[in-house]
Amino acid sequence: MRSHLLNDTTADSYRRSVIEGVERVAAKIAATHKPHTGISVDELAPVIAGIDLDSPLLDAAAALDELEEVYLRDAVYFHAPRYLGHLNCPVVIPAVLGEAVLSAVNSSLDTWDQSIGGTLMERRLIDWTTGRIGLGPGADGVFTSGGSQSNFHALLLARDEACRLVMKNSEFPLTKAEVLPKLRIFTSDVSHFSVKKSAAMLGLGYEAVITVPVDENKRMRTEALAHELSACEAEGLFPMAVVATAGTTDFGSIDPLPEIARLVAAHSSWMHVDAAYGCGLLASPTRRHLLDGIEHADSVTVDFHKSFFQPVSSSAVLVRDRDTLKHATYHADYLNPRRMVEERIPNQVDKSIQTTRRFDALKLWMTLRVMGADGVGGLFDEVCDLAAEGWNLIDADPRFEVVVRPQLSTLVFRYLPAGEVRADLVDEANLHARKALFASGEAVVAGTKVDGDQYLKFTLLNPQTTTADISAVLDLLAAHAEQFLGESLVHAS
Ligand SMILES: *Cc1c(COP(=O)(O)O)cnc(C)c1O
Repeated sequence: MRSHLLNDTTADSYRRSVIEGVERVAAKIAATHKPHTGISVDELAPVIAGIDLDSPLLDAAAALDELEEVYLRDAVYFHAPRYLGHLNCPVVIPAVLGEAVLSAVNSSLDTWDQSIGGTLMERRLIDWTTGRIGLGPGADGVFTSGGSQSNFHALLLARDEACRLVMKNSEFPLTKAEVLPKLRIFTSDVSHFSVKKSAAMLGLGYEAVITVPVDENKRMRTEALAHELSACEAEGLFPMAVVATAGTTDFGSIDPLPEIARLVAAHSSWMHVDAAYGCGLLASPTRRHLLDGIEHADSVTVDFHKSFFQPVSSSAVLVRDRDTLKHATYHADYLNPRRMVEERIPNQVDKSIQTTRRFDALKLWMTLRVMGADGVGGLFDEVCDLAAEGWNLIDADPRFEVVVRPQLSTLVFRYLPAGEVRADLVDEANLHARKALFASGEAVVAGTKVDGDQYLKFTLLNPQTTTADISAVLDLLAAHAEQFLGESLVHAS
């Protein structure tokens, strides 16, 4: 069994094994044009349940053959131009190369003594990102597993900063336990659910989140925010943080960051910008201005695995004031004792809520070194351009109704039949169209609700997708919806 360990005596076996795997995936990708085969859970579950995990095949080629049946054949392929579902991007090859390197070397980025070099490279990328945001010389941050973790981490820092300030400024002694129930978080009603979930996990409860309404472009109404902030203080409560979204998951809308920054400053709160989706603009040669105002943030979430074409996971949380990261610091005797800070040993675990942590930063490093920032940002520009063209297409199509001209690369629309059709049937027709399309494997689209009505969503992150693909998918959706309505009307009569 030692022959399976990757070491100085098995380098050849490692090479053969990985190349064989790469060959299979390359062949599969080259031959795959549809997002998936359309297999159902009921068909696939027995195949996977039938694998006896206690009877190993003892051979990589045999395991790859089996993998074809249980996974590769039916997986969802995001490189397919008609995959328009969630915020999954096709990945760039330099990043996939980085992924192969990082899992073979297997550095762990918690401490310097497990990641010589990697620690400094991650720090360079954090500085590169904070530089692009404009957070200033005191900025810092750390890579995380994703936007949800980054949001949680940022709100943890905001919570503990708020507690510290409220306790310091109080005329009478207050305990943290007394302050926590008085903290409030403000975010728009189309922000990511991880904001509410973080509030609950941080011991504040869902009720601590005040949702602020949005305008017709799905951007936070700042006059409503101003009103809520004042009301909060009038009740003797504390505005712990305002979470602005730069690229909402459904609409790609960007909250008015400069106005929000002014309000946050006036109320001595903490500004967090969730740029999980919109962060691609940081590298965009033409659209960086859409993020103007982000430089005022106290903390920022970026998801490189959404708009930087990186494989999952690759995300970071950035802060304006590196001192605030101390709220997640713990000095463990065995790992990162306090003396290491004095010896200036750069242990990233001091800033992270994880301990053992992947060198995900290497993927972005390879991407920037091979393609450059303009290269990767240009790809994001292409999908934003495509979304603008797609909006025109849907807007001109009498079968569909489209909402919100896109700032980024999503399109939210619904099938709307001519004539009088009951609203619940329209909802069902749209839901049916999405499900039937998924079951066919021809294309994948997402769905969401707008003012209680069922809508469909294209998330465009693939520069290979064309307006012809968009038109074709619209035709497929309309056909499924029409068929559904036709059958419903037959049943009704
Ligand atoms: C996707 C997304 C998140 C969550 O990020 P994960 O990487 O999926 O955890 C948070 N905020 C916004 C706006 C997102 O679009």
